[in-house]
Amino acid sequence: MDELNIINILPDSVANQIAAGEVVDRPASAVKELLENAMDAGATQIDLIVKDAGRTLLQVIDNGCGMSDSDARLCFERHATSKIHHADDLFSIHTMGFRGEALASIAAIAQVELRTHLIGNELGTVVNIEGSHVTSQHPEACPTGTSISVKNLFFNVPARRNFLKKDSVELSHIEEVFRRITLIHSDIAFTFTSNGRLLYDLKAGSMLQRISQLFGNHCKERLFNVEEETDLLKIKGFVGKPEYARKTRGEQYLFVNGRFIKHPALSAAVEKAYTDMLPEHSYPSYFIGLQVDPAKIDINIHPTKTEVKFVDEHAMFAILRSAVKKALGQFTLATELEFDKPAEFNIGPAPKGYIPPQPKISYNPDYNPFRPTSTQTRLNLQKEPNDLKALKNLMAPEDPKDPIAPKDLTPPSTTCLQLQSRYIVTPLSSGLAVIDQQRAHERVLFDKLTQSNSSTISHSQTLLFPVNCTFSPADAELLAELLPDLRPYGFAIETLSSTTFVVTATPVDFKESELQTFLNQMLADYKGSVMLRFSNRSQSLCASLARQMAIRPGTPLTQEEMQQLVADLFACPMADTSPSGKKTITIVKPEELLH
Ligand code: ADP
Ligand code: MG
Repeated sequence: MDELNIINILPDSVANQIAAGEVVDRPASAVKELLENAMDAGATQIDLIVKDAGRTLLQVIDNGCGMSDSDARLCFERHATSKIHHADDLFSIHTMGFRGEALASIAAIAQVELRTHLIGNELGTVVNIEGSHVTSQHPEACPTGTSISVKNLFFNVPARRNFLKKDSVELSHIEEVFRRITLIHSDIAFTFTSNGRLLYDLKAGSMLQRISQLFGNHCKERLFNVEEETDLLKIKGFVGKPEYARKTRGEQYLFVNGRFIKHPALSAAVEKAYTDMLPEHSYPSYFIGLQVDPAKIDINIHPTKTEVKFVDEHAMFAILRSAVKKALGQFTLATELEFDKPAEFNIGPAPKGYIPPQPKISYNPDYNPFRPTSTQTRLNLQKEPNDLKALKNLMAPEDPKDPIAPKDLTPPSTTCLQLQSRYIVTPLSSGLAVIDQQRAHERVLFDKLTQSNSSTISHSQTLLFPVNCTFSPADAELLAELLPDLRPYGFAIETLSSTTFVVTATPVDFKESELQTFLNQMLADYKGSVMLRFSNRSQSLCASLARQMAIRPGTPLTQEEMQQLVADLFACPMADTSPSGKKTITIVKPEELLH
C-alpha cells in the first residue's frame, strides 16, 4: 500500500550537498580541486586568489583549454567528467581528477561563477550556480581558459561554516595545499594572492628553483640531488643535508605521478637512509617525486587521494632507500674532504709487529682554571671569574632523584681530555665525568643570556656586509613579530620586502654565515613544542640562541678552553641538564669500571 512506502530518492541538490561533505571539508580542499582541474586543462599559468582565507572568495584563473557552452553547464553535474570513459581507464589515470565530483560538490555548498572560453570558439560563456541550481548562463567575451569564483563557501551549511578555524589557520591550510601542488609542477607558473596581497609569484622553472621560491633561497645549498631510474620506479628530487635536519617534520614532501601522497612506509624508507647521520629528534627535509606505472597504483582508496597503495611496495621501499643513501653518500665524501679530522681517526691498521709507544699526555701544571683567558672570548663566555662560592652554592641543595648529586662534584681537575672532538673527560672525586661539550656550552650560554638585562645590547657587532635572509611568507610574518624580542640580544634586523630581511648587526661572536639557519631554527622552535618548555618568549629565544652559538661536536678544544667550559658549567645552578632538557654530564663511577 502506498502509505507504507517510505523510501524516496533524494533530490540532486541534497545528494550533492552530502557528497560535498567528503570532498570539501574546508576552503583548502576546494582550492586543491580547482588547482587540479586547471592543471588537467593543460594550463601553463594559474592564479589563485582568496579573500578571508577562502570564506568569502576562492578564485582560480587558468589559461588552459577552456570548456564549451554545454560542458560549462554539464561540469556541475555529479559524475560529470571528461577524464575517464570506461572502467578500464581507472588503471591508467594520468590526470589529477577523474571522479567528476568536485565541481558538483562545490556548487552544492557555495555561489559559483564559471567563466570559460574553449580554445577555437569565438566567445566564452558565463554560468552562475548556487546551491546546485543554475541561476544564469550567457555568452560573453572572455580570455581563453577558465576562471572559477567560489563565493561564500558553506553559505547553506551553517554547521560546516561554524567549524571553520581562524582565518590564519585556514589560510595556512590553503598555503600547504598550494605548496603540495606547486612543488611538483614547477613547469607551470602560479601566483597566490590573499586579501589583495601577492604572497607567491612562482615562475616556471626547475624543481630546485621552485623549492627555493617556496621555502627561501637558502635551500639550494642545503639539498642533495636524488635521481634513480629502474623498471619499476623513477625517482627525481632533493633531500636535505643531514646538518640541516629540522626539529619538526615540516618539509617532507613525497609525490607519486605528480600527486602529493602520504605514505608512512615510503617516508620511513627515506628516513632510514639517514640512520646514524642525524642528531636525536631531528628530521630530514625531502622533496621527492616518484613515477610509477599507473596500473601499479590504487589511488582510489581515499576520497581526497593523499593515500595510495602500491603493488610492489617492498621493492619500492628498497629502491627509494638506496637512492637516498646514494645521494647522502656524496655527503660523507664531501665532509671528509672539507674537514680536518684529527689524524688518529684516519690511521689505517697498524703494520704487523708494530708495538705502539706509551701514550703521553702533556699539560700545564701551573694552569689556573679560574683565571680569565683568551678562551673566554672564543667561547663567548665573558663571565666574571668563577669562584668557589658558586660551586659551594651548587653543592648546597640536594635532590635525591638527581642522578648526579651535587656533593659528588668537586672543583674540576686541571686536566681535561677531549674525546672524539665531542666530549670532555675529567676526573671528579666521585668518578670520571664525561661532559658533552655542546650541551654544556648551551647551558652556560643560556644562563648568561637569560640573566643579562638590556645592557647586553653593548655586545652587538655591526656587520661589515649586511646579510639578506629570505623566508616563506608565513615565516616572514612571524619573524616580523619577533624582531623586537631579538633586539636586546644584539640583533639588528630590518624588513626589506614581504619575505626578505636584512641583518645589520648580530651578537658578538655570532657566525654570520649561520644567520639564516639560526633564524629558521628559531622560527621552527618558536612554532613547535620547544617553546612549551619555556615560560616566555624571551626564554625560548635564548634557548635557540644558545643552541646556535654553542660549540659544535667536532670542534677541537684546547686544554684551557675545556677547563674554562667545565668551570663555567659547574657554576650554573642546573649544570647537569642543557636548556633543552638533555643530560650534560655522565659520571662513570670507579665501581663501574672494576668488576
Ligand atoms: P574531475 O576533475 O574528476 O573530472 P570535476 O568535477 O573536478 O571532476 O570537473 C568536471 C569536469 O569539468 C572535468 O572533467 C573537466 O572536463 C571540466 N573542468 C573542470 N575544471 C576545468 C577547467 N579549469 N578547465 C577546463 N575544464 C574543466
Ligand atoms: Mg577535478
